[in-house]
Amino acid sequence: MAEGFKATVLKTVNVIVREFESLYLRKYMNNLKLNQIINKYLNSDYIKDNSVNGIQIEGKKNIKNIYTCVTINNFVIKKAILNKVDTLIAHHGILWKNNFLNIIGIQKKRIHKILLNNINIFAWHLPLDIHPKIGNNVIIAKKLNTNIKILPTNKFPVLLCKLNNNKNIFKKIKKQTRNFYFHQSKKKKINKIGICSGCGEKFLEKSILEYNIDTYITGEISENYFYIFEEYDINIFIIKHYISEIYGIKKLGKWIKKKFKLNVSFLNSFNEYEYILNKK
Ligand SMILES: [Zn+2]
Repeated sequence: MAEGFKATVLKTVNVIVREFESLYLRKYMNNLKLNQIINKYLNSDYIKDNSVNGIQIEGKKNIKNIYTCVTINNFVIKKAILNKVDTLIAHHGILWKNNFLNIIGIQKKRIHKILLNNINIFAWHLPLDIHPKIGNNVIIAKKLNTNIKILPTNKFPVLLCKLNNNKNIFKKIKKQTRNFYFHQSKKKKINKIGICSGCGEKFLEKSILEYNIDTYITGEISENYFYIFEEYDINIFIIKHYISEIYGIKKLGKWIKKKFKLNVSFLNSFNEYEYILNKK
């Protein structure tokens, strides 16, 4: 009885502390300052990318409530408006260097809503794939939960790693990557792995020819790449684009929350095409 009472009191105190914290202690952050700090942390200025990294659309000057997400879409924008979120930070933003420059169709609709509601849009793409601490690739490598050694590469976005112990590794990777598509090599054991979050098809052949990998882990590939990995006879795990890029943006959100005491939460989108369960 006494223990139960103690637990209830503790729970109530925790709620009050959290409420107090969110009302009075959570700070505001200047949007351009935050942009500058994250650009520096992710080394964005030195990474060539198709994405316009950093601030894409300027909203409120003072940031307090942030949603992080993998991809900016109508669902994410609507949720941000509904929940009075002033900033969206995405892995896939809405401005790409190879996009049409005309603001028409859904781009017009999205930008109209964003400007009308004074929401900041930030995006970090490749810098968030390859970052040595919070990048998608390195987190996937660590999630393999095995004795792994990261190998150096020169300006190549694929993370290379070597296994020190490859006992039952095929099963382990299958489990860690939630049994998405895999192809097992007839001859090659898993030893040297190339990891490329998102769409890694462009770097598959270079990883095989120049870095001699026997295993490749990526988010998605096009149909013709199937024959490439089959003919080179390598192991491959295709873990879906969205899933492979959820890690970095979540970690960035946690980093911002801890460092600047802002309200940050990750917003999951349901991507029917990739059959992602909402809670994953
Ligand atoms: Zn991507």
